[in-house]
Amino acid sequence: MNVKINGPLYSGKAKDVLMTDDPEIVAVRFRDDITAGDGEKKDTLEMKGYYNSVISAKIFEVLEGAGVPTQYLELPEPGCMLARKLDMIPIEVILRNIAAGSIVRRFPFTEGQKFRPPIIQMDYKSDEHGDPMLNEDIILALGIATRDEISEIRRMTLKINDVLVEFFREKGIILPDFKLEFGRDSSGRIRLGDEVSPDTCRLWDMETGKPLDKDIFRRGEEGVVSAYRRVAEMILEMEDIERWNVKI
Ligand code: C5P
Repeated sequence: MNVKINGPLYSGKAKDVLMTDDPEIVAVRFRDDITAGDGEKKDTLEMKGYYNSVISAKIFEVLEGAGVPTQYLELPEPGCMLARKLDMIPIEVILRNIAAGSIVRRFPFTEGQKFRPPIIQMDYKSDEHGDPMLNEDIILALGIATRDEISEIRRMTLKINDVLVEFFREKGIILPDFKLEFGRDSSGRIRLGDEVSPDTCRLWDMETGKPLDKDIFRRGEEGVVSAYRRVAEMILEMEDIERWNVKI
């Protein structure tokens, strides 16, 4: 894909979105910044963006292969992804297979408890309001998505979970929960956007039970980037390592 990258469009907590000379395509730069607790805890960890970009690209490709529409187009080089421009819906869609993190603090669930069927939680993506939990009536009253879009997002989230639980299981990784963000493409179709990485998923090593994700950072422990590198090593095929020239 031959596009010229232009100026910045939007800057988030861990990624920059840049315009290209094609109005339908953006470039997403994965930065090394890492935050937790709504930006209260911050750091910059060398190569974090690099590994998140290759992990996300791989997962988007797996999902596209399973028939899930995403924003992903190509990873010309680690750290920078070309993606379809989406009109993002300000909802953080969290799917939980196993109780961990905030749900255990906020409700009488036991850490490690399995949810069958999984729980889908939708939070309003708004730092100003502290990302409060939504329900369908609030989403409709806010006018951020239609009833049909909410059911399409739920359907896609469950499909993504089925695909990813199996994909990670084969690689020796348990997927307790993850967060997704969706948007509308130029024809109004809902597509998965943002990223799917150890910043946005809980990933547990099946052998040791240890986290390989942002929980390491949240707990103030060392070894964040080496865990992310380990995820890349576990999920990438030799062919991926060669075509993206990934440093493992
Ligand atoms: O914080 P909590 O335990 O609710 O997070 C559930 C899942 O959603 C975790 O995998 C976490 O990394 C992800 N998440 C996220 N961005 C947020 C909130 C949660 O990626 N703003």
